[in-house]
Amino acid sequence: MRKRIPLPFIPVLIAAILSLPASSTGQTPAKAKIKIEKEKQLVLDWLSKPETVERFGKISDAIWEYAELGLQEFRSSKLLADTLEQAGFKVERGLADMPTCFVATYGSGKPVIGFLGEFDALPMLSQKAKSTTQDPIVAGAPGHGCGHNAMCTAALSAAIAVKEAIDKYGLPGTIKVFGSPAEEIVASRPYMVRAGLFKDVDAVIDNHSGSGLGTGYGRGGNALFSSIFSFKGKTSHGASAWSGRSALDAVEIMNVSTNYLREHLPLSYRMHYVITEGGEAPNVVPDKAAVWYYVRNTDERLEEMYERVINCAKAGALATGTELLPIRVISAIHQTHSNKGMAELLQKNIDLVGMPAWSDEENAFAKALQKELKAAETGMPTKVDTLRAPSGQETGGGSSDVGEVTLIAPTATVRFPGTIPGSISHHWSTVACTVGTTTWKGLNAGAKVIAASAVDLLTKPAELKKIRDEFDAYIQKYPYKSFLPADAKPPVDINETLMNKFRPLMEKAAEIKK
Ligand SMILES: [Zn+2]
Repeated sequence: MRKRIPLPFIPVLIAAILSLPASSTGQTPAKAKIKIEKEKQLVLDWLSKPETVERFGKISDAIWEYAELGLQEFRSSKLLADTLEQAGFKVERGLADMPTCFVATYGSGKPVIGFLGEFDALPMLSQKAKSTTQDPIVAGAPGHGCGHNAMCTAALSAAIAVKEAIDKYGLPGTIKVFGSPAEEIVASRPYMVRAGLFKDVDAVIDNHSGSGLGTGYGRGGNALFSSIFSFKGKTSHGASAWSGRSALDAVEIMNVSTNYLREHLPLSYRMHYVITEGGEAPNVVPDKAAVWYYVRNTDERLEEMYERVINCAKAGALATGTELLPIRVISAIHQTHSNKGMAELLQKNIDLVGMPAWSDEENAFAKALQKELKAAETGMPTKVDTLRAPSGQETGGGSSDVGEVTLIAPTATVRFPGTIPGSISHHWSTVACTVGTTTWKGLNAGAKVIAASAVDLLTKPAELKKIRDEFDAYIQKYPYKSFLPADAKPPVDINETLMNKFRPLMEKAAEIKK
């Protein structure tokens, strides 16, 4: 057994942080010489209050504990939507045929500035807070391995800060928080766009938890089809299988075919699958089997590649004498096209806000986790990042359904330090560190950048016009057309069985901890 580092637990850190002067609870002081407009100063001051950092930190920690999978985020979504409603926002829930999707609105008229916010967890990543070794709370249960617990929380705290400025200074315009479920299965934004939720939005600020404070622009990530291929065969005794037709064989032949296909695809592709249904016992020929594919490529190459994958499925059915059932498209999304003008505006406010000041305890835990992961033992980051330009290389990578929004309105993403450098995304190490005071401060820094940038957009029409002009020229070149088939529906059932299995166990564990 590996020895665990005995670190003070969260309540001790909370007590410590609240006893410090205000300048130590949030970010390093903004550069003294820069003149900050009074509206912007108000949102920064409001977010700097220790009670604000704690209030939203606790929301992030609660969502971390709920750890709900995509489209099962009933408690997380309710907590976020209720908080916005109590702050005076008008909240519409259950939008775009997704019970956990919501939009919260404050203010009136133009411009309309949108904030994106995610809150879903990943399967199999349950992990104790602030543990430097893999140690699940409930083995096999979901966990927040991508920091989404802190993300809608960052958007929400920024929105409430901007509301304060709207109220005090009578700023024109509207703020909207787009509560976006199921990002881990990239399954909400294409349906939210299809439902017209973004139709009046002038600009959008997205955020993502990471280990630095930064932003970037340009085209990135991969477009994606997420689809389930199901086959229907004929069951029989496994020992007299000549009278059966195995649906599992069809899945296997499809997979062999797609694995040969890889050789003949451009390097921009990514393709992976899990078999979700494949029979129950070797002595019964499976008459049902299914495989879930992620097919990823550039916007231009995606549909052609997807057609070739469908041909592999047809080959599996033909070879085995089984039937390929109607393909279920879970989601289909574009690459991310981040707006340069918006990213430049975010960067100015990133430089203004600066990196949070970390305590000795926070740095000690970061180094202990980094040591365990054999990462550079640098502790927490000390400097903000510089503006990231597109790499220009299209050699595959991950995907985000934020891509859909970037083609509907000018959008860029703030990355904030919600995790520890060296922690691994979609891995227990991120779950272990995306909770407690480092995350509180990180999401608060992100919220300051979002709120300050939104104030700029509300008060400087020329800034917004520059961003809009860039966007209008861009979509002449890349007009938006959804990849979703007309009959595709949000996969509200896809995580239901798994969540129902673990929810009572997770709630019981949380109860015992209290
Ligand atoms: Zn993520």
